[in-house]
Amino acid sequence: MTEKNSIPKKIILFGPPGSGKGTLTELIKKILPEIFHISTGDILRENLSRNTPLGLNAKVYMDKGELVPDEIVINMVKERLEREDVKDNGYILDGFPRNIEQARALTEITRADIFIHMVIDKDIVIKRILGRYSCPHCGKIYNKYSLNPKYEGICDDCGSEIEFKQRSDDKEETILNRMDVFEQNAKPILEYYSTMGILRKSDATRTLELTREEIEGLIDL
Ligand code: ADP
Ligand code: ZN
Repeated sequence: MTEKNSIPKKIILFGPPGSGKGTLTELIKKILPEIFHISTGDILRENLSRNTPLGLNAKVYMDKGELVPDEIVINMVKERLEREDVKDNGYILDGFPRNIEQARALTEITRADIFIHMVIDKDIVIKRILGRYSCPHCGKIYNKYSLNPKYEGICDDCGSEIEFKQRSDDKEETILNRMDVFEQNAKPILEYYSTMGILRKSDATRTLELTREEIEGLIDL
């Protein structure tokens, strides 16, 4: 490994709901296994499932597809970014910042060096989210529009009977609101990171086709 490669990467993934930030994270982690993944959505859902005060506070907003107040989310992220292992190994921020106030607050805490904008058509992500369902028995993921089981109604992997059934958090109204919130906030955020000189784009329709070289290029390795 060269000197340059050993510098901890500080990466922000930015893209609409359903754009595959989690998928790209997994691919980056194959190359940089030590990097710290910070997903604000995951942290909030984890608090929700444990019924913490933070989780109860956030629930109202999440159910509506609205942003949880900055104060809550910024402190949550700050606390994690200040840990020693994050400083040593770098981070992937997924789902933060989501508005310009969060972006400015982040710069006060740490200076990211790579901002990846996952570009994808709104109609495609809405279809992706609206169509997704999974086998209740083994969890295999399907999509009504793009990835149905080979034999209708029967899971490819475990043979159970399955039918299209939407996840409770993937209701059309909530998704459309999440998309609107994303679009309202995207422009100033993109301008902010473009001015900072760290903005780059990735075509989110082909994340799964990215080669190792392409991913390394994306994160300056
Ligand atoms: P998605 O990208 O599909 O909307 P996430 O898991 O990233 O899903 O977020 C789920 C919900 O959690 C959001 O709709 C919002 O209510 C809340 N949330 C996540 N990250 C933030 C953030 N940075 N600021 C405010 N709210 C957030
Ligand atoms: Zn199954």
